[in-house]
Amino acid sequence: MEAEAPRQINYLRMSITDRCQLRCVYCTYWREWEKQPPAEILRYEELLRLAAVAAEAGVRKVRVTGGEPLLRRGLMGFLQELKRLPGINQVCLTTNGALLRELAPALYNTGVRHLNVSLDTLKQDRYRQITGSDNLPAVMAGLERAASLGFHPLKINCVVLRGINDDEVLDIARLARERPLQVRFIELMPTTSRTWWQRHFLSMTEVRQRLAVLGPLEPLAREAAAGPARTFRLPGFRGELGFISPMSEHHCRTCNRLRLSSDGKIRPCLLGSQELDLKEPLRQGGSDGFIGFLFQEAIRLKHRKTGHSLACSGSCFRDLPMVSIGG
Ligand code: SF4
Repeated sequence: MEAEAPRQINYLRMSITDRCQLRCVYCTYWREWEKQPPAEILRYEELLRLAAVAAEAGVRKVRVTGGEPLLRRGLMGFLQELKRLPGINQVCLTTNGALLRELAPALYNTGVRHLNVSLDTLKQDRYRQITGSDNLPAVMAGLERAASLGFHPLKINCVVLRGINDDEVLDIARLARERPLQVRFIELMPTTSRTWWQRHFLSMTEVRQRLAVLGPLEPLAREAAAGPARTFRLPGFRGELGFISPMSEHHCRTCNRLRLSSDGKIRPCLLGSQELDLKEPLRQGGSDGFIGFLFQEAIRLKHRKTGHSLACSGSCFRDLPMVSIGG
């Protein structure tokens, strides 16, 4: 039997802050979470240096996340520099959308076009229940603004929570009927207590079954540095639907990502506990060669993983502060 070609690890998710104005119920175990002192968060010049070393290691796509990246001052200048780095040919951003209405034009002027916006409900009271804030009108206005400016691909990330927003999957999917955007449904990850996760987890298989009334899902081809979503087109829809199922149908064999947390830890796997510290060597005068070696080490650790064992062990419930890792 022919040996399987090794995965191309060509995608870096880079968290640039652990600050966020929302408190999404599924994001982090807030009772035990504390934000990092500012000095512990990587400076822009450090982030750019790590991105350049990552490009040497084969990274071609960088997704800027948080916390909420639009909250960090100097973001637009950083994005322009990031886009200019040799080897990096895609710079994307994920936002909760609360500041998008105001900042979309400046963001567009940086040259970034790939934009993901978190939207778990279309109902104001439920938005407050899920995020702890009243920003839904601002997020919807920000989405309209981004679409009118021409961000493409423009994607919506919706975490499906049984008993909280799962009755809206049809309405949220229909956002892709009249608009050329991609609506992605995401399985709940074990970032809170095990019982909360078990109570609210809903598999993507069940979500697809509920969407069957919209028509047959036609699978779409996967792009080179694409993320984990399996994408589909529906008859009569201008946009697409995507499904991200790390828990029920993991995609470890095709996983092409590394994650850099806002305090400088590189993680081979979101659901694993391994991480390598890049900040210490960076601030102790470590050479690009040594930092590059650490990237290769993270990639080597990733190659050894062919699946996460979370489903059985559940060892990282509560121990996965998405707000610092960037999801
Ligand atoms: S980082 Fe994202 S998921 Fe977490 S609270 Fe903020 S908006 Fe919500």
